[in-house]
Amino acid sequence: MINKTFTLHHENHDRDIFDFKYVYPVVSRRAGGLSLGINLNTNNACNWQCIYCEIPNLSRGKPDPIDVGQLSSELSHWINLLINSPFIEKNCAPDTKFVDVAFSGNGEPTAAIEFHQILIIVVEKLKQFNLINDIQIRLITNGSFIHKNLPSLDLLSEFNGEVWFKIDAGDSDSINNINQIQSSFTTIKKNLKFSLIHSKTIIQSCLLKINDEVPSNYFLDDYIKLIKPYDKDIRAIHLYSLARKSHQTSNLKIDRLTDFELEKIKSYLESHLETNIYTFP
Ligand code: SF4
Repeated sequence: MINKTFTLHHENHDRDIFDFKYVYPVVSRRAGGLSLGINLNTNNACNWQCIYCEIPNLSRGKPDPIDVGQLSSELSHWINLLINSPFIEKNCAPDTKFVDVAFSGNGEPTAAIEFHQILIIVVEKLKQFNLINDIQIRLITNGSFIHKNLPSLDLLSEFNGEVWFKIDAGDSDSINNINQIQSSFTTIKKNLKFSLIHSKTIIQSCLLKINDEVPSNYFLDDYIKLIKPYDKDIRAIHLYSLARKSHQTSNLKIDRLTDFELEKIKSYLESHLETNIYTFP
């Protein structure tokens, strides 16, 4: 099946180039290497509809039932290929390393009822390949179902896994506009708190230029106000901007922030927060 030479790089996150249903390799700037992604949302359904989302034909909803046996075989196949063949040397930039298995699909992974079962499979596979202490397990999530997945967070934590929790704004108008949801702050805070108690948690924030305006200090002050009570427990904040083309329609014009604009925001946040902040321009 894999007979062509592809160069995987961070601007190409096409999950279909290798023709597998659930598991795909991707080079991730934020993970810092090759990430084996697990897509539980093969129907492109998410409970959110972020205006910057790069998923084509995104719909609101839940994932289709998952063929757990197929997913498990695909995972074995890919791990074996990454560690026992020259796949990485052939397809990635020099010195690229296999760094994580990440639940990062075309929608919210924790919306899948099979999520915990699949997390157990990931742990078992990493043990089987003697990688459990070397390869991170990451859950990339919008956080909205965290309260229903506490045993999964505990399992993640047992194997030093991480939750990357999406917070793109700190005021309800911006959250409504950017993530296109009507979530209450009580719910967001409750889920963030659960995440922090149960797992190592990193905040991931996609910041945008909206209608030609960079995020204002008012916007950033609201963001700081939301984060501040949890500042000491958050492991890090990852700031990034539009990396690839959005596939969503919106009446808002969105653009990528420049490296300079992102760095300026980082400095402003650093003057108010203690947690480590990293930019991924
Ligand atoms: S939460 Fe993620 S998958 Fe869902 S719409 Fe937002 S960016 Fe897309």
